[in-house]
Amino acid sequence: MVEPKLTIVVPCYNEEEVLLETIAQLNNVLGELITEKLISNESKLLFVDDGSKDKTWSLIYKESLENRAVHGLKLSRNVGHQNALLAGLLTAKKSSDCVISIDADLQDDIQIIREFIVKFKDGFDIVYGVRKRRDTDHIFKKKTAEFFYKLMRKLGVNLIYNHADYRLMSKRAIDELERFEEVNLFLRGIVPLIGFPSTSIYYDRKERLAGTTKYPLKKMLSFAFEGITSFSITPIRFVLLLGLVSFFVSFLFGCYFITLKFLGGAETGWTSLITSIWLIGGLQLIAIGLIGEYIGKIYKEAKRRPKYSIDIDTFSMAHQLIERTN
Ligand code: UDP
Ligand code: MG
Repeated sequence: MVEPKLTIVVPCYNEEEVLLETIAQLNNVLGELITEKLISNESKLLFVDDGSKDKTWSLIYKESLENRAVHGLKLSRNVGHQNALLAGLLTAKKSSDCVISIDADLQDDIQIIREFIVKFKDGFDIVYGVRKRRDTDHIFKKKTAEFFYKLMRKLGVNLIYNHADYRLMSKRAIDELERFEEVNLFLRGIVPLIGFPSTSIYYDRKERLAGTTKYPLKKMLSFAFEGITSFSITPIRFVLLLGLVSFFVSFLFGCYFITLKFLGGAETGWTSLITSIWLIGGLQLIAIGLIGEYIGKIYKEAKRRPKYSIDIDTFSMAHQLIERTN
């Protein structure tokens, strides 16, 4: 059997502090796997620079000139982790049998890449890297993440528990992924929908090797919200239910007060009036806000703006060059 061509895709945003170490370590693993004849010697690393403002791109580019396994994809501006990852996957699949995506900070155990490949050779199209424990995350992140996965499950979204974006995908799985044309990308929700044979490998997640998280609280919350509203309309249903309940309750109240009025003892009062006005007003605003959120999504989808623009692509350049010389 011919060894599969592997490309490891790494989205990078302002990662100058950790990048050289990441390149060195991934390059080592790639070298080992090639020597063991587990993967083809044309396997590559593809670093996607997501519009970094520091030296990230110049480091990638310099390395790509010195090491023929290293390639760079420079996006024209910062489009976010998910879009950067998609750009990497779609570029890499052009000349790979399988692609592994991994973060630039080496929090994920790169030793399991070997197991990824073994599973791929066993016939799995998708291999999920799943964190066994989250000991290195601080308590707030741990708790919010736990709540998020539980909530998603309740909302009927099939997410792999504790799996982020460390995974292997076969070329045909990425071909399928490409057919999901949504602009609001939430890859870890979409990938399980592909439905091809898949399996999980468990590992311990480490501390970020260097640099700071590129997902501060605000970004993390908006990412989670994006995930929920992209995959479920249960929140709107919940609001509908709330509306029905409040309608029912106010109907009963209405009956009660009208009866009371006819009996000659209608109750009047500023407190009850103001409370119900604020309550109903609040509920209506929440409902409108939530519906607005979904309409906003439709608005974005309807515009079909491109998810990213590629400025420089040394991966495809090399690929085309090889084709021309052959
Ligand atoms: N990242 C990116 N674009 C962004 C934000 C992050 O490409 O706008 C990359 C980042 O460089 C890293 C990965 O996404 O490789 C995950 O980010 P990070 O490790 O900071 O997230 P955390 O592990 O803290 O959730
Ligand atoms: Mg990280």
